[in-house]
Amino acid sequence: MSQKIAIIGSGPSGLTAGIYTSRANLDTTIFLGIQPGGQLTTTTEIENFPGFVNGIQGPELMENMQKQAERFGAKTKFETVRDFKYGVSGSKPIFTLTHDSGETTYDAVIIASGASARYLNLPGEEKYIGRGYHSCATCDGFFYKNKEIIVIGAGDSAMEEANFLTKFASKVYIVHRSENFRASKIMIERAKTNPKIEWLLNKSIVSLNGETKIGSVDLKDSLTKEVTNFPIDGVFVAIGHIPNTDFVKGKLSMNEAGYLLPKNRTMSEIEGIFIAGDVEDTIYRQAITAAGDGCRAAMDCEKWLESIE
Ligand SMILES: Cc1cc2nc3c(=O)[nH]c(=O)nc-3n(C[C@H](O)[C@H](O)[C@H](O)COP(=O)(O)OP(=O)(O)OC[C@H]3O[C@@H](n4cnc5c(N)ncnc54)[C@H](O)[C@@H]3O)c2cc1C
Repeated sequence: MSQKIAIIGSGPSGLTAGIYTSRANLDTTIFLGIQPGGQLTTTTEIENFPGFVNGIQGPELMENMQKQAERFGAKTKFETVRDFKYGVSGSKPIFTLTHDSGETTYDAVIIASGASARYLNLPGEEKYIGRGYHSCATCDGFFYKNKEIIVIGAGDSAMEEANFLTKFASKVYIVHRSENFRASKIMIERAKTNPKIEWLLNKSIVSLNGETKIGSVDLKDSLTKEVTNFPIDGVFVAIGHIPNTDFVKGKLSMNEAGYLLPKNRTMSEIEGIFIAGDVEDTIYRQAITAAGDGCRAAMDCEKWLESIE
């Protein structure tokens, strides 16, 4: 019987890993989790994934990836992995996953459980995601040529995103609820000297407005408590991501923010567990880099399984 691999997650990294492992004739099960297709299913046009001259809709791209993995025999389960244990069977490691419908053992595991962008938690905000409300400047900045946008955040990544967005936008407003920033002095200085950036301090967004797309926001002044309507074309939220790693807490090393830390190429400190995509990526966080990671993890996994045969 062929060796059994579990892939946890069905974003670009998990599904690409699934295409590679199933094509390598390994018995592959992909746990889809609560968001089959991952983060790209929450957006519309993807213009920077190679191979699609005129772009492709996020959900369509992910549906295609899943079908491609299934074509080579990958099984998909619309289930979440809750826990894992590892032990030894003969001389080989064995991994027992607890998932919604029970427990199953595997010879190797690829963790591709991604991360979730933090949004502001405003009422009804979901309807604007990808429609004027964004969490990734590299992904969506291009759609804002000569438009006015708001960046929310106070850390280095907010400053970096604001500077980057001035390549496209005619004006970028940095909105922050106080006058204290977490960003480094140099990043604040860079933003301050950028003529296209304006600061709206002691303000927070209390409402997103617009029929099908954001057309304005309501801003509340934290000192005067006054609420004013502010016309704007888009809002970029840069307040961080939450890696989906609760189910491995205490079992695998992670950084302070909960991102997993691969040890040997894509392999974790536990031999037989591989890591791919946004769950370990604090820098690039793109569909193509996640897909590339999935490929690397699958190939490392295949080689490792051969080595313990
Ligand atoms: C709104 C938006 C727009 C974006 N636009 C672009 C763009 O235009 N171009 C671009 O390159 N990138 C874009 N990105 C970034 C891109 O979506 C991510 O970099 C990419 O999806 C990361 O892929 P991933 O496979 O690592 O994880 P994710 O896409 O985060 O997928 C994680 C998967 O893991 C599953 N999962 C989580 N926990 C468990 C568990 N315990 N058990 C089982 N399954 C689990 C989830 O259900 C999900 O299927 C965008 C992101 C967002 C949020």
